[in-house]
Amino acid sequence: MPMPAPNANPTPPRKTLPYSRQALGEADISAVVEVLRSDWLTTGPAVERFEAALAQETGAVHVVAVSSGTAALHAAMFALEIGPGDEVIVPAMTFAATANAVLYQGGRPIFADVDRGTLLLDPAALEALISPRTKAIVAVDYAGQPCDYEALRAVACRHDLPLVADAAHSLGARDGGRPVGSLADLTTFSFHPVKAITTGEGGAVATNDARLAARIRRFRNHGIDRDGNRVAQCNSPPDVAGGAWHRPMVELGYNYRLTDIQSALGLSQLKRLEPWLARRRAIAGCYDAALAALPGVQPLRVRRKVAHAYHLYVVSLDAAVLGLNRAEVHRQLHARGIAAQVHYLPVYLHPYYRQRFGTRSGLCPAAEAAYERILSLPLFPAMSDDDVADVLAALEGVVGAARHGAAGPPPVFPHVNLPFDAGAFESP
Ligand SMILES: *Cc1c(COP(=O)(O)O)cnc(C)c1O
Repeated sequence: MPMPAPNANPTPPRKTLPYSRQALGEADISAVVEVLRSDWLTTGPAVERFEAALAQETGAVHVVAVSSGTAALHAAMFALEIGPGDEVIVPAMTFAATANAVLYQGGRPIFADVDRGTLLLDPAALEALISPRTKAIVAVDYAGQPCDYEALRAVACRHDLPLVADAAHSLGARDGGRPVGSLADLTTFSFHPVKAITTGEGGAVATNDARLAARIRRFRNHGIDRDGNRVAQCNSPPDVAGGAWHRPMVELGYNYRLTDIQSALGLSQLKRLEPWLARRRAIAGCYDAALAALPGVQPLRVRRKVAHAYHLYVVSLDAAVLGLNRAEVHRQLHARGIAAQVHYLPVYLHPYYRQRFGTRSGLCPAAEAAYERILSLPLFPAMSDDDVADVLAALEGVVGAARHGAAGPPPVFPHVNLPFDAGAFESP
């Protein structure tokens, strides 16, 4: 068969680029295989090593690994003894799991509005919602940017409330040099494949409070006390104290354990967190520079002194300037193979919340206005420079075509050349 002419199809339609995806190498695979050949599959020595490595990374004294970011949030609510009648303030602009965790404990999530520029929990909006029923505050490091924890802590301290950070987006981020994980009383992480590092499914809670850490450890294991024998022998009648087999369940917990298989993957991934974050920041910097020349497409504001983790690169689209609404931009980008996404519908507008709590539009105006305009562009460390250029060319194509007619202007982003640490993607 004759070879096709080299220029027969100069621009084949690209394979769809997701908004995020894991990076997995041979080192990760070997680490998992090693556990599969060992004596321990579930919670054992690899979990302990993963927890120690996460403590090192986050600057927290205690880290407890659990089976998902959602389990981490549930464990945080449990440790803080949230129960029926209690209110927990959460930002409206987050993934549903942040608020669902409050419901698991029988509490009620109260939705606070976010800052229009950063989409982070607004300290003033938060303080206005505090009532005698408020038992905790959850902040979310939306898109990977740490919240203003100094301001949030001031509010929390004034009202003697614990502060939880949902840091599912912000592993490795810093605020004023301090790592996420040591900025709130409890910090939760997720290791879902779209997040900074992955264990398939997985999560963790970081804290400096030994008592909270011990409660979470027990909670992830059915409420069974690890030091049960000692406790039982001291406090229980002889017939329950039992022998060496005795493992008393002292409260209602769950099976939220992470496995050694997953932890080996997490440990291996964590070694490349820094180069991956550097790559995310370089791509974000490239987007920033290019979008400065594109009216009507504006990145979120980044707070001063923040080292952003860039889980998401979110732009706000001005339909009046573009002559196109967000839905249309989203559709046209997908048609060009760019799977941009929307994060998030304000949680209280989900059908379940509307039905159960009667919440509706108007509750958090800034979050709702943002929701109409936001779009997350693809951003993950394994993206090539060509992928980045394709995203920008597609965006320019969609937006430019709307502004200048079908032909559109010539592309303004002809060349992308970013630092790329190939070693971060290969086995040593
Ligand atoms: C991903 C995510 C979670 C839940 O994490 P899972 O590991 O998927 O359970 C919670 N909160 C936010 C903000 C998230 O993005």
